Amino acid sequence: MALSLFKDADALYEQAIDLIKQGEFEKARGRLMKSIEKDGGPDDISAVLVCMIDMRGRLGDISAYRNLLNALKATKAKEFTFGLTTVNIPMMIVQCELAIEEIQTFNMNGGSAVTLEKGNRLLKLAQRYQSEVGNETLKMNEIFLNDTTRTGIREGMVLLAMGYESLASGTVWNDPKKAAEYQQIAYGYRKQVGDTGESNLKLINDYSKTCKCWFCGRTTSGLGIHFFPMSSEISPILLKSGETEPIKSDSDDHNSIYACRACYTGISTRADEIARVYYNQAMSEMRAMEARLNAEIAALWSAVRSIR
Ligand SMILES: [Zn+2]
Repeated sequence: MALSLFKDADALYEQAIDLIKQGEFEKARGRLMKSIEKDGGPDDISAVLVCMIDMRGRLGDISAYRNLLNALKATKAKEFTFGLTTVNIPMMIVQCELAIEEIQTFNMNGGSAVTLEKGNRLLKLAQRYQSEVGNETLKMNEIFLNDTTRTGIREGMVLLAMGYESLASGTVWNDPKKAAEYQQIAYGYRKQVGDTGESNLKLINDYSKTCKCWFCGRTTSGLGIHFFPMSSEISPILLKSGETEPIKSDSDDHNSIYACRACYTGISTRADEIARVYYNQAMSEMRAMEARLNAEIAALWSAVRSIR
C-alpha cells in the first residue's frame, strides 16, 4: 500500500517535471500539490518547484522570495532542475536572500540621510553579489527572463553605480563637489556595464559648475540645486562689465542670468504673492461683472414679459 502511494507521488512528480519543460506551469503546479499530499519527504523538492512556479511575474515580490527561501531551507536536496536549468540549492538560497535585501533597499525613499543610507546599503550589497555569487548567473533572470548575461559580478557593478549615484544625491545638498566625485565613480561603473553614463556626465557637469549670483554676488556650485538660470535680457554694456569676472553670472548663451537658491526662491515666492493679488482682483471684478450682467438680463426678461 505504502509502495503504491509512493509510486503515485513519483509519477505525479515526473509528470510535473515534463509539464514545466513544456511551459505548462499551472498544470505542473496541480500535479506537484497532489504529489506533496501523497508523499513529501525531507528531500522532496516538490514544494521548491511550486514556489519556483509562483515566482513567475513576481521577481520584485519579497513574499514570493520568502516562500521560496523557506522551501529551499526545508529540503535536504542539493540541487533541482527547473525546465532546462539545473539549480544549486545553496547558491539559490544566497541569491534569494540578496534579492530580498535588494528590493528592500530599492524601496528606501526619503531625505538626504535616507538616501545616504540607501547608497551605503547598495555598496555593501554590490560587494556581496561579487564575492558570493561571482561569475554565476542570476538564476531567476536565466529561468524567467531568458537572460544569462546577468552574473553576480555584473549585478555588483550595476549596484556600485547605483550606490554611488545615491550617495551623490544624498551629498549634493551640503557638498556639491563631493557629489560630483561620487557621480564620477558611478560613471566609471556605468561604462563598465555598457551604459552610456550620459546622465552621470550631465550631473558631474552641473554639480561642478560654479557661478556667481547676479543679485547678491554669492558664489556657489551646483546648477539646478544651489543656483538656477533665469531668463533675462543682458544688454551689451552689462555683458561687457562681466567679461573680466573669473566666475560667470550668466549662461554661456547670455540669455539667462544665474540666481542663487536663496535669491531665486525669494524672488519666485514674492512673484507668486503678487500674481495671487492680481488674480484675486481679476476674479472679484469678473464676479461683479457677472452680477451686473445677470441683473441686466433679469431686467430685460421682465421688459419682454410686460410687452407680451
Ligand atoms: Zn543670490
